[in-house]
Amino acid sequence: MKFHILTLFPEMIMQGLNTSIIGRAVEKNILSINAVDIRDYTLDKHGKVDDYPYGGGAGMLMQAQPVYDAWKAVTGVSSMSSMVTADHEKGLGAPEQVSRKIRTIYVTPQGSTFDQKMAAELAKEEELVFLCGHYEGIDERVLEEVVTDYISIGDYVLTGGELPAMVMIDAISRLVPGVLNNSVSAETESFHNDLLEYPQYSRPEEWHGKKVPKVLMSGNHSKITEWRLEQSKERTAKRRPDLYKKYQHKMQVVKRLAKNKRSNIHIMENLSRGKGEVLFAEGDNVLVYDKECKMAMLTVKDREMGERLLELVPEEVQLFIASQAFMNDAICSRFDFEVFHECYQSCSTQRELHTVKYKDIRTLDLDSVPYLAEHYEHETEGYLRERVSAGVMFGAYADERIVGFVGIHNDGSTGLLYVEEAYRREGIGLSLVAYCMNRQKEWGYIPYGHTFVENQKSLALQEKMGLYVAKDTIWWLQKRPQKQE
Ligand code: SAM
Repeated sequence: MKFHILTLFPEMIMQGLNTSIIGRAVEKNILSINAVDIRDYTLDKHGKVDDYPYGGGAGMLMQAQPVYDAWKAVTGVSSMSSMVTADHEKGLGAPEQVSRKIRTIYVTPQGSTFDQKMAAELAKEEELVFLCGHYEGIDERVLEEVVTDYISIGDYVLTGGELPAMVMIDAISRLVPGVLNNSVSAETESFHNDLLEYPQYSRPEEWHGKKVPKVLMSGNHSKITEWRLEQSKERTAKRRPDLYKKYQHKMQVVKRLAKNKRSNIHIMENLSRGKGEVLFAEGDNVLVYDKECKMAMLTVKDREMGERLLELVPEEVQLFIASQAFMNDAICSRFDFEVFHECYQSCSTQRELHTVKYKDIRTLDLDSVPYLAEHYEHETEGYLRERVSAGVMFGAYADERIVGFVGIHNDGSTGLLYVEEAYRREGIGLSLVAYCMNRQKEWGYIPYGHTFVENQKSLALQEKMGLYVAKDTIWWLQKRPQKQE
């Protein structure tokens, strides 16, 4: 991921971001940090970049010209034709065929407050520009032309935008695949799922007469998960009652959905794993939106109510899971979608772990991505890399090489199953699925999956594993592909 920082103090950025985890990621070329001195672009012969504000008032203002020219040099575009993208720069298309402006963030106390969800969303970009103000800020006219996002790091005023930009770059970077060694930690730590992280302990077992809680030394993963969740809840209720209220509301919705667990499992798990937000929940009518996947999930009693709820779905939506077929037409015409599959849902609700007969199954690391991309044509390499980086792809090994794999999709469902032809019919697929489900149980999740209705083989396999298959089907809908002119 590339960060460009437009600033009057590039050395401050370079010094601040060249150590520890971020510094190492830069060395490994996972990140690049390009601090650009706005002063280099001023046309003023004395190197001036600021002037008095019209109408009077305290302090000086950064002028439009140097900021604009610095931005233009970095993005390679002028705002008049600013529809050029990273793809175009790579030579993948003519400028008129591409239409994404490089996201340019002005760090300002007047923006929306930065949080973990925003960090996760921004971590998906390939390139970001940060604009740092100084003095009393920047001439409004250039902001209007180049800025796509106004973001603040909190309700206080700092002397410049460098610290906010560094704070944001740090939080975004650790969510970029490959930056953290153990990326599952990003899925369990504070703010994930509106809860603060549980207390942690390291050696020695006893310090100042205080012992490490016994359960943490029991080796019982599900007991540890349970204890940690309780501690997280207690801590959040005490330290951040506002967050805890949000969490409780979400859990009430999950509880209500649990009355029909097998059919609602996708919505329940998406919420319990801290992914989606409840947009509406009243009686049997629930609408959840997962911003990261740009996916909406809807279950409703009748079509009239369903159509009203569609108005709450953000326009950026790319995927829909409808629990009732009577909503399909309305979704298709409202969002220009098409139905692409009818699926059965299955889930593993019992606490006991499944038997895993095949012994050499390991969590995959980034070195496995080329193999996954070569053998799994349904997903992009970028998506597979992101899944590996989240620590949720598992591989079966034979003779020290991968021969099959399975994983958890970003919506929470189990899938991404593949076994090399020569290794099929040996139960490796079954073991991979069982292993993946067991890991999820250890993390406190209910493993579930979606199977196309016509895939009888897979359904039979799931019943063999003791999974519960819901009677009702669900419908996957997606944005209709844009026609080529
Ligand atoms: N006069 C401006 C106002 O009231 O909005 C504040 C200017 S501040 C002194 C100078 C620069 O610091 C801003 O242009 C912005 O880039 C940065 N800055 C200050 N506080 C910030 C915050 N809480 N979040 C993000 N950026 C901030």
